[in-house]
Amino acid sequence: MSTLLIKNGTLATLGENNRILTDHSLLVENGVIKKIAPTADMPDQTADEVIDASGQLVLPGFINAHTHFYSAFARGLGKVPPSNNFVEVLENLWWRLDRLLTPEDSYYSALVSCVDAVKHGTTTLIDHHASEGHVRGTLELIEKAVLETGLRGSLCFELTDRDGPQVAADGHTENVEFIKAKQAENSPRIKALFGLHAAFTINDDTLTKAVKAARELGVGFHIHTAEDQADQDHSLKHHGMRVVERLHKFGVLGPQTICAHCIHVDEAEMNLLAETDTIGMHLAQSNLNNAVGVADVVKLIEKGILYGMGSDSMTNNMLEEARVALWAQHISKSNPSVGFMQVWNALLVNNRKIISRYWDESIGKLEEGSLADIVLMDYTPPTPFNEDSFVGHMCFGVAHSSVRTTIAGGKILMRDHQLVGIDEERIAARARELSQALWDRF
Ligand SMILES: [Zn+2]
Repeated sequence: MSTLLIKNGTLATLGENNRILTDHSLLVENGVIKKIAPTADMPDQTADEVIDASGQLVLPGFINAHTHFYSAFARGLGKVPPSNNFVEVLENLWWRLDRLLTPEDSYYSALVSCVDAVKHGTTTLIDHHASEGHVRGTLELIEKAVLETGLRGSLCFELTDRDGPQVAADGHTENVEFIKAKQAENSPRIKALFGLHAAFTINDDTLTKAVKAARELGVGFHIHTAEDQADQDHSLKHHGMRVVERLHKFGVLGPQTICAHCIHVDEAEMNLLAETDTIGMHLAQSNLNNAVGVADVVKLIEKGILYGMGSDSMTNNMLEEARVALWAQHISKSNPSVGFMQVWNALLVNNRKIISRYWDESIGKLEEGSLADIVLMDYTPPTPFNEDSFVGHMCFGVAHSSVRTTIAGGKILMRDHQLVGIDEERIAARARELSQALWDRF
């Protein structure tokens, strides 16, 4: 049995009923939060390890509910021709890059992304992987990276027909085999979804086969949905129906399925997503960067869709992501008051609910019995700090503070800004060699 005591902190519990607890301590036993109490009631002699959280805000680890680890190796890549629209971004950059990734590239880009996540207090990530040149066996390598950095992840491979029938067949098998293996393990660290790229690169046969396999396995899908108008145009032209209608017709939607983006969906499609209890995902910085539009977060949530937040690999700082998401709502509606609670709830409330659809364990709240995924941030509130003012502090203060300590499953991954058991220098050095070689092939 190992115990860890975090004392003298200001806790924000999140969960169903967020409470701000000043001068509190939190005892972790074997990776689970055992007790939360005022510091005076919690003697520290009994714990194996003690962290003094004076002057720090103690929060549940952040959740990034849609990202792409592999894109880490695109940072600084200058050979990409200028792209005039979203499809050209895919053709000129991402679809060229993912074909060139070696298995070691997949592994190291995941390591780089996971180290970055630890440094930003993001402890659970839902990844969507593409490496169409080397498909089989890559999810195991990514799993290895997640496990080695101490994080929690849900993984999938993006099945697509864009690179021909063999790559599609391999993508199908990669998902099926990985899902089976993870179901057999039932690990609290790694889960699996069935990955689909996007409706416009998947033909009816491939989709039919994928749905049949996923139904037999009892898992949901993770797919980019109506990210750009081009997805809708393609669907209407080739299938005579809109994207979400087609996904519904084939049986892709449901409470276990994540439809990332949902920018260019109409009212009827929103209703379909809500009726099927499908998960939606907001990815504001990516959408602004690709100039594809701004999702109507308020309306999607009003419709009853469980709409969460990911970064699409633009960052692992989820507070930065939420801030930008809010500004995007304001400018898209020309209204400086719109969307505040909806955007922050997507990150702080909905992401936890989404994770609870895949994990049996309680994650994403500071509560006795929950897994000890905890982040400590330097923060001394200069204005009253309580349940009512909490989200305002997150947006305008905590978001600019640094993550000091990151803990996942009771294990300290970073302490006082120092990574623990992770050799970032070594990882980055090898990643620079591999990415240079990748750029030479690009
Ligand atoms: Zn994405």
